[in-house]
Amino acid sequence: MSADALATAVIAAAGSGDRLGAGGPKAFVEVAGKPLLAWSLAALEAADSIGSIVVAAPPGNEEEVLAAAGSAAVVPGGASRSESVANALKEVGSELVLVHDAARPLAPSRLFDAVVSELAADSDCDAVVAAAPVADTLKRALAGRVIETVPRSELWAVQTPQAFRAKALREALDAEAETLAKATDDASLIEAAGGVVRIFGWDEPNLKVTTPADLAIAEALLARPSAFAR
Ligand code: C5P
Repeated sequence: MSADALATAVIAAAGSGDRLGAGGPKAFVEVAGKPLLAWSLAALEAADSIGSIVVAAPPGNEEEVLAAAGSAAVVPGGASRSESVANALKEVGSELVLVHDAARPLAPSRLFDAVVSELAADSDCDAVVAAAPVADTLKRALAGRVIETVPRSELWAVQTPQAFRAKALREALDAEAETLAKATDDASLIEAAGGVVRIFGWDEPNLKVTTPADLAIAEALLARPSAFAR
C-alpha cells in the first residue's frame, strides 16, 4: 500500500459457505495453503491504489478475522452481501472505495489498481466493474423451452472488484433490506438509481469459489502461479 493511495478496499467475506459444504464460513476454507480470505487480503495490501482495508466478517468470527487481517479493520457482516458491504462502508472515509468478494481469490493487485484508476480518471462515472466477455452461447428459456438465442456481443459476466464513488455507493445502499437481499452486485443498485457504471474488460481467471469444484480449480491455479499471470 502506498502513502498517496486513493481508495479504501472493502472485502465482503461474511458468506456462510453452505454451497461449499465446508462446515464453516467460506472465508476460512484453506486454498493452496492459506485461507480463502488471505489471498484477497494479500493482493489488496500489495496494490498501490489501496490505502486501507475493511473486512466484513462472518458474524461471530470477527476476532478470528482481526487476528489474520493485519492492519485491516473488521466489521460484522450482514444478512445479505450488500448489507455486509453497507456495514463496512460506515468505516470508509475516502472518496473512492473498491469492493471485492473474498470468494474471488485469483484477482491480482494490478486488477484492483486498474479498476480504481479507471474510475479516478472519469469524473462522470459512479462505478467501474471488472467483467469478462461471455464465451458461451446464451438462450432465454421458459419452463425449459427456448424462447430465443440472445446475441452475446453486448453481454458481460460481471465480477468483483468493483470501484465506486463512496457517496454514490452510500446512497445506493441506503435501501430496504429486501432490495439489498435481491442485489447480486452493488453496481446494480447504482444502475437502478440512474448512476453511470462502466465495464473494465478482464478475461484472465477470476473465478468465484462457490462449489467444491470451483475450489479445486482455484487451488490448482493458485498452487501453480506460473499457469496464469497473477
Ligand atoms: O454467497 P456468495 O458466494 O454469492 O457471496 C459472494 C461474496 O459475498 C462472498 O465473498 C461472501 O463472503 C460475501 N457475503 C457477505 N455477506 C453475506 C453473504 C455473502 O459478505 N451475508
